[in-house]
Amino acid sequence: MEARVRGSCLCGEIRFEIDGKIGPVGQCHCSKCRKLSGTDGNAIFHAAASSFRWMTGEQEIRRFTLPGGDGWVSHFCGQCGSPVPHRDHGGRFFYVPAGLLDDDPGFRGYAAHIFVGSKAPWVCIADEAPQFEAGLDSPRMDRA
Ligand SMILES: [Zn+2]
Ligand SMILES: [Zn+2]
Repeated sequence: MEARVRGSCLCGEIRFEIDGKIGPVGQCHCSKCRKLSGTDGNAIFHAAASSFRWMTGEQEIRRFTLPGGDGWVSHFCGQCGSPVPHRDHGGRFFYVPAGLLDDDPGFRGYAAHIFVGSKAPWVCIADEAPQFEAGLDSPRMDRA
């Protein structure tokens, strides 16, 4: 889907725009994403670095490196605490939390569930999207 979509944090200090292809969106159920979001996981999609622009507030971004977390870093707004987009290690794309979007990205529903092997016991996945034990290259859990 080609579109221009805008996103922002809760306080609006950090704003970004994405042109070009976005989505699909996946849901990560890992324990870190659950803590980060305070919910059942993290709805996240990739945007090419070349199509991603910070509009305001990039200087407000704070980072937290999880001790013993194998380099795992969370990125969030220093004013309101919203998780914010961050680049992958290779710098080719951004991970974008879908809940930050202010425009309709076009995609509907999740394309995949990842880290289902560590999901919260109270979560029932009710859609038909493929479920992976860990990352997208891990065993499927929705097939016997
Ligand atoms: Zn904010
Ligand atoms: Zn996760």
